[in-house]
Amino acid sequence: MSSLIEHFEQLALSPPLLETLKELGYEAPSPIQAATIPPMLDGCDVLGQAQTGTGKTAAFALPILEKLSLSSREPQALVLTPTRELAIQVAEAFQGYARHIPGFHVLPIYGGQSMSLQLRHLRRGVHVVVGTPGRVMDHLRRETLSLAALRTVVLDEADEMLRMGFIDDVDWILEQTPAEKQVALFSATMPEPIRRVAHRHLRDPREVKIETRTATVATVRQRYCQVGAQHKLDALTRVLEVEDADAILIFVRTKIAATELAERLEARGYPSAALHGDMTQALREKTIEQLRGGNLDIVVATDVAARGLDVQRISHVINYDIPYDTEAYIHRIGRTGRAGRAGDAILFIAPRELRLLRAIEKATRQPIERMPLPTPEAITGHRLAQFKQQVGEVFNSQDLGFFQELIIEIEREQEMSAHDIAAALTYLAQRDRPFQFEDAIPKDAEKERERPPGRATREGRPPRGERPARETADFDKIRYRIDVGREHGATPQNIMGAIANEAGIEGRYIGRIEIHDDYSTVDLPDGMPPEIFRHLKRVRVRQQMLNIRRLDGAEPERKRPGKPKTERGSNHWEPAVERKPHRRRSAQPTVD
Ligand code: AMP
Repeated sequence: MSSLIEHFEQLALSPPLLETLKELGYEAPSPIQAATIPPMLDGCDVLGQAQTGTGKTAAFALPILEKLSLSSREPQALVLTPTRELAIQVAEAFQGYARHIPGFHVLPIYGGQSMSLQLRHLRRGVHVVVGTPGRVMDHLRRETLSLAALRTVVLDEADEMLRMGFIDDVDWILEQTPAEKQVALFSATMPEPIRRVAHRHLRDPREVKIETRTATVATVRQRYCQVGAQHKLDALTRVLEVEDADAILIFVRTKIAATELAERLEARGYPSAALHGDMTQALREKTIEQLRGGNLDIVVATDVAARGLDVQRISHVINYDIPYDTEAYIHRIGRTGRAGRAGDAILFIAPRELRLLRAIEKATRQPIERMPLPTPEAITGHRLAQFKQQVGEVFNSQDLGFFQELIIEIEREQEMSAHDIAAALTYLAQRDRPFQFEDAIPKDAEKERERPPGRATREGRPPRGERPARETADFDKIRYRIDVGREHGATPQNIMGAIANEAGIEGRYIGRIEIHDDYSTVDLPDGMPPEIFRHLKRVRVRQQMLNIRRLDGAEPERKRPGKPKTERGSNHWEPAVERKPHRRRSAQPTVD
């Protein structure tokens, strides 16, 4: 998407927000931000087609913060999200962007969290509420949440809310909001039911879509490496070890990340320099000249600083942070394969970002191959091969007479064979950088991420839209009965959505769901904590209290207690089933 907005300063944001963006190291607005912030500041409705990773949270959070009246203590903005994890993340993002706005309060409200805590915060007064539809409805019915002062409603990941059976709830909530308000709807896809909600609740919306322009990048071999954020640096090290590269350009999102990554690579023995917009022109030029001249092999850059960069020896572009859109991707990988040479592009991607990968493939009309993370064995093999080659090269190119004399002397004095001496010297040669490679990436890290759980954690979520065949963990199940069925309009999705959010349990632990006329059954892991059981009894789906109970009539007992995670509120159930190693199927994801 082309946009005339290249700097945050062009966006009519006030100094505290601009200061925050500067501190966060954001260099320029992402395309969705450039397209969404101005109409949202003008009070227009927005229909945005954007997925995770495009910067959409800031796209709605910044205008909301900009227009906030701090003196009013009633919620002025409501953000609806499909899951509690996303609600927490969005609330944290608001808090982060508001770091220079003293007195700002945001409250995440979601099922499973203590109601009294939420009530206390609501009474104290909040400016922004971020919540899952079920819990927001609860508060509205109890009249503990007032939407009278609401100015903006955001529907985040609307297609995901549809998939989880929340769309009617969203509709109902929107009906409880004041007629005069701004609505922004974000969705990765725009299926018909979402369009209908948009049609009903949005007024003359600005449609914002991250265009996927097609382009050819024929000379660049494109691969991707699936890796979670916590293992990215180790993964990068592995890739740098095995790739046969000349010069490497690594892309990150922020100026701070550029500086930090360059420093961390240096610390690991890979001389590198940063290239970003805060550096003086002279320093930037010097860095580029060093790269061009071969005095420097690794540069870590932001998009803005690398714009138009033309250095022929760049053999590899590594997208360490995913680009915001296909256009940025195409520009980035165009920094290699210059002047008809071959080039390599490697993209690091977290499972939740896989959608963007598919969009890029569509835009470039080329598949991006999966690149398995190089294994420690492969790296060790690579180091050994390099060493052997070096030994041969030195033998062929250097005059070794002085050293041969020395070896003869050692043989004589220490009564060692030439083999023994060579082995000792080899040991010395690799002591600072042992041939046998090790790092912190667990052996099954890729497997874990390759088949993410059914839903519930954002990091492990499968690509949206492609409805995953629900994968359930291998566990001892108890069949429960709930008092909501077909005649109430229940679907497996809204039952799963409600139970996952309210019990704080990952979707993969929710087993088979059978819908009958006036009741349904659902399989859940053995060992449900009593507080979760009590809570689930009162949860409603399609206005019906679940009144959950065991199908066999027995009272639940706590054989293998699940671990309540306190930081997620009292009602978070992490079944203990996965800790039984003999039960774990190798292809199943494990809990981090
Ligand atoms: P989102 O798509 O909202 O989940 O954002 C993805 C990530 O991009 C988050 O980690 C943000 O902090 C980061 N981000 C958002 N906007 C920018 C920007 N303009 N520059 C750099 N990073 C950003």
